[in-house]
Amino acid sequence: MIPFNKPYLTGKEAHYLYQAVYSEHLSGNGAFTQKCHHFFEERYGFGKCLLTTSCSDALEMAALLCEVQSGDEVIMPSYTFVSTANAFILRGAKVIFVDSRPDHPGINEEAIEALINKKTKVIVPVHYAGVACDMDKIMALANKYELLVVEDAAQAIDSFYTGKDGVKRPLGSIGHLATFSFHETKNITCGEGGMLVINEERFQARAEIIWEKGTNRSAFFRGEVDKYGWIDVGSSYLPSEISAAFLWAQLENIDVIQQQRTALWKAYYEGLCRWAKESRGQLPVIPDYATNNAHMFYLVCHSPEQRTQLLKHLKENGVQAVFHYLSLHKSAFYREKHDGRILTQSDRYTDCLLRLPMYFELDAMPVISELISKAN
Ligand SMILES: *Cc1c(COP(=O)(O)O)cnc(C)c1O
Repeated sequence: MIPFNKPYLTGKEAHYLYQAVYSEHLSGNGAFTQKCHHFFEERYGFGKCLLTTSCSDALEMAALLCEVQSGDEVIMPSYTFVSTANAFILRGAKVIFVDSRPDHPGINEEAIEALINKKTKVIVPVHYAGVACDMDKIMALANKYELLVVEDAAQAIDSFYTGKDGVKRPLGSIGHLATFSFHETKNITCGEGGMLVINEERFQARAEIIWEKGTNRSAFFRGEVDKYGWIDVGSSYLPSEISAAFLWAQLENIDVIQQQRTALWKAYYEGLCRWAKESRGQLPVIPDYATNNAHMFYLVCHSPEQRTQLLKHLKENGVQAVFHYLSLHKSAFYREKHDGRILTQSDRYTDCLLRLPMYFELDAMPVISELISKAN
């Protein structure tokens, strides 16, 4: 069986885990955590970075920092992971779901403005498959209506956006806040892990307090205060040094990992161009302003039946392909709360999108492309 995902080990993980174990600092915010923070701050010019136990937790921190509360509205795509929405629902906010683009599962930027009103507080663009949303448009709306932008960059490590000013910016550096995931299925992993990026300076001190259970413990360890205490709300969002050590081994090899994934992605794309033409299927579209970090390779079938047939055909031939999100506005939890707007594209990706195996050691792209081409 060719699995859908297989975590890649660089070979240094066990070495750094050993170091972490014998450093006698196993809890969070030790040497490895700080190495990871600096890596991101320096390589991508991010604002303050804080590792978290997951991207879901980073999103919860973001919702706390935005001071979202009951009565507030938060705009995000319906075609996303539940955590994007849960973080704000947990604070009592109402989520307003937006449709996806016809050419790409990302949020339809043109559909956002009509949904903004006095209650709107935050926009959450999700960079699906690591491909940028049109951030100029989203930031312009945020400026015009004084909204906050939280980039859900869970899938978007090492991916970029080029704005109208011609400057190429890393995803995660553009919104006021941004969140990343290091879950096993992402390009860079430590099993379960994530990161909050705080680009907006006025949130930076508070972010560190929320991260440390609502205490000023981080400032205490830096010697900035004589004793630490409870000064705000918060939780335990920081990962142990064990996770950070593992993550460090991956980050050291990010260029190798990214090169390899990009090559796999291109092999799929070339192998499937003919299929797309002949079977009315759709291959991923990368807009001119976006780069491709090869997080995912997906197809959009022309009908749900075509997808069912392809999934079955691949499974019978030992290839584990999978579909992806189910529109959140139609979920059991949210459908009663949704305002009834029909989100055609979100439903189309729910019904027709199929993801192919994608991991560092994959070499079966030609075989898989061939299977797909012959399925019709
Ligand atoms: C993976 C993912 C998450 C959740 O990440 P965890 O680290 O598993 O909490 C959130 N949003 C998106 C878009 C994701 O792809």
